[in-house]
Amino acid sequence: MLIVKKFGGTSVANKERMYNVANRCIEDYKKGNDVVVVLSAMGKYTDELIDMAKDMNPNPPKREMDMLFTIGEQMSVALMGMVMNNLGVPAISLNAFQVAMHTTSVYGNARIKRIDSERIRHELDQKKIVIVTGFQGINKFDDYTTLGRGGSDTTAVALAAALNADACEIYTDVDGVYTADPRKVPSARKLNQITYDEMLELATLGAGVLHNRSVELAKKQGVQLVVRSSLNTSEGTIVKEDAKMEKMLVSGVAADKDAARIALIGLKDEPGVAFRLFNHLARHNINVDMILQSVGRDSTKDISFTVAVDNADEAVEIVERHFHEYEKIDVEKNVAKVSIVGAGMMSNAGVAAKMFEALYDEGINIKMISTSEIRVSVLIDEKYTERAMNAVHDKFGLGDNR
Ligand code: ASP
Ligand code: MG
Repeated sequence: MLIVKKFGGTSVANKERMYNVANRCIEDYKKGNDVVVVLSAMGKYTDELIDMAKDMNPNPPKREMDMLFTIGEQMSVALMGMVMNNLGVPAISLNAFQVAMHTTSVYGNARIKRIDSERIRHELDQKKIVIVTGFQGINKFDDYTTLGRGGSDTTAVALAAALNADACEIYTDVDGVYTADPRKVPSARKLNQITYDEMLELATLGAGVLHNRSVELAKKQGVQLVVRSSLNTSEGTIVKEDAKMEKMLVSGVAADKDAARIALIGLKDEPGVAFRLFNHLARHNINVDMILQSVGRDSTKDISFTVAVDNADEAVEIVERHFHEYEKIDVEKNVAKVSIVGAGMMSNAGVAAKMFEALYDEGINIKMISTSEIRVSVLIDEKYTERAMNAVHDKFGLGDNR
């Protein structure tokens, strides 16, 4: 078997954890498997690098940031190579150049285009454990790039696809994917399996366990993933396509407090208004999430939409500067988006109603609603986030042993 094992920052945060990771890899190696290990930077090292950079220059060039970032992962893999060799196992560390890992040229947010597998294959043939830097790549200018925060997951999936691996294991500091964040919903339960689409919705909603592009890539390439803890031997959560798998009505509840609502009142009720408004925002790279338009009356209508909190002031500025077709603009930053995700809701009526009932029972007002085939999201007052999550989680019986 060829196994790709990826370990996040907390899993390699110190010497003891490095040895723990090494031993887990060596265990598989000694059973006769080919083992490729992908590592993140140790602990919060990437954050420390950002602090250092900002101290030098509050607006550091993205290219230099990537140049800086890559030392974090390079440190992890080199030290891991030393640890494994100290444990008597031949191991070799490789960075993005040595592999080579080709990406698009966008610094800070590059996408993997192609991975050369010869070098890794050669080292595996020499019976070495191969330790590869996560998160980084090289572009056509022979510069380092990075894949965006949390990008090591994507490195692992891309490697698993390129090497046609038999398993891709993502090790983290939690036991797997939960029905909700256990810190907010005490009755949350670990899921044994979940579909790519559900995982993708959860990852995008900020559930935090996997980089969303890694899930996208896994789905596209058909790479089955296991998310599990590096700190115990619990079995983790399998992420896969499987049509045979019983599709759960609702498999998870997630919340995102990073939302702000902007409301525009008194727009003309005529063609082209929404186009002009959102076109201005798009041209300035402002991502819009939920959108609500009211029924027109007296030939006016209202439109409200949500953006990331960090973009709220800029979005208002853009609207005020470029779009003059409204009477009043209003911003609300203390809002949160609470969502339920489940592949089974596609073929079941009443899922949304049940969620709304749970919120009604708690007296929580819904400000906006949006849906996809397998997701229902509501925007509520931020202070009710935890209450809403627990109420919805209970309503769907997610904490029970089903
Ligand atoms: N070290 C990078 C980060 O902190 C990449 C990763 O951990 O996946 O974002
Ligand atoms: Mg991560």
